Amino acid sequence: MHIGCPKEIKPQEFRVGLTPNAAHEAVLHGHTVTVETEAGVGAGFSDADYIAAGAQIAANAADVFAAADMIVKVKEPQPGERQMLREGQILFTYLHLAPDAAQTQDLIASGATCIAYETVTDRNGGLPLLAPMSEVAGRLAPQVGAWTLQKANGGRGVLMGGVPGVGPARVAVIGGGVVGTQAARIAAGMGADVTVLDRSLPRLRYLDDTFAGVFKTGFASAGNTIELAMQADMIIGAVLIPGAAAPKLISRAQLADLKPGAALVDVAIDQGGCFETSRATTHQDPIYDVDGIMHYCVANMPGAVARTSTIALGNATMPFMLALADKGWRQACSDDPHLLAGLNVHAGQVTYAAVGAALGIDT
Ligand code: NAD
Repeated sequence: MHIGCPKEIKPQEFRVGLTPNAAHEAVLHGHTVTVETEAGVGAGFSDADYIAAGAQIAANAADVFAAADMIVKVKEPQPGERQMLREGQILFTYLHLAPDAAQTQDLIASGATCIAYETVTDRNGGLPLLAPMSEVAGRLAPQVGAWTLQKANGGRGVLMGGVPGVGPARVAVIGGGVVGTQAARIAAGMGADVTVLDRSLPRLRYLDDTFAGVFKTGFASAGNTIELAMQADMIIGAVLIPGAAAPKLISRAQLADLKPGAALVDVAIDQGGCFETSRATTHQDPIYDVDGIMHYCVANMPGAVARTSTIALGNATMPFMLALADKGWRQACSDDPHLLAGLNVHAGQVTYAAVGAALGIDT
């Protein structure tokens, strides 16, 4: 199969859909790989790295789309890219179609077979192509929170690990899933005093069994949540209710009860945020102040560490990409129901029920 990887064109997107390692694996499987020139540069991969991996370099995206049987990307195709898709071509990338009628209509019109990273499943009911980005955002959260806590940034002026004779920062993590667990591990590793709250008792049991002595756990009742938040120097919002907007766990009025200069890191901002005062920010201008409480609400946190994120995503997508290339989409999806769960649009039809329901389109 001919696999193509264009350079990402969405603003501030530095990741790339294929790493040189993934390109090399595809070549070892007998496939042809074409990568747009400088596609990997934002993630620290040069054209020479791809050539060494056995890939070809194309001068522009049009040449990649024209040559490839399968396009592998990171972000949803932008309008110009959608025009270049064709009937029978496979598109393998993040799509997030449910809130995006214009993109969905273009993908229907293209006739392409569109497989979305975010709806591929695993045997534990997880989302294996979303998990790496949650891991990145979770591990990044204490790092950006620690920066937000610095005095020059409007924060409380508290050092995560304290020093001998001075206690550490107190960190409350709300939501103990993938993001919350990784955030808690890193915050504890920085020497902070960390508590994770969740509403799922099985999850709390798992966290307690695995991380006893590293961080504490608590049940996320409304009372416990605000009580812990009032004692915290940093609060990391990491909740998810699948398919729903994030619940608002701290109201504007409650900000007055928090420590002045506390840092709120709302990782759940891509689902609307879990603090009433959260609004999405960018890497260029990541933090803002509401009533003396510093908010960090960047909606695409993994973009800050594009190289780590690209490699983590590539590790997760590679087996699926190889299955699609080796077997063709039909056989690969028939052999693997978890990959089939990623099929969102095929031959002019929406094939994913939740997307159809959200947009009022028959599936
Ligand atoms: P997850 O499903 O693994 O974990 C979510 C956890 O929240 C679950 O354990 C659940 O029991 C818990 N929860 C639900 N409601 C709660 C409540 N009211 N109080 C306490 N806990 C509650 O999800 P995840 O992968 O960890 O993702 C968490 C959030 O981070 C999601 O909104 C996701 O979209 C977002 N995210 C954002 C970025 C970014 O760049 N900003 C990157 C990756 C993920």
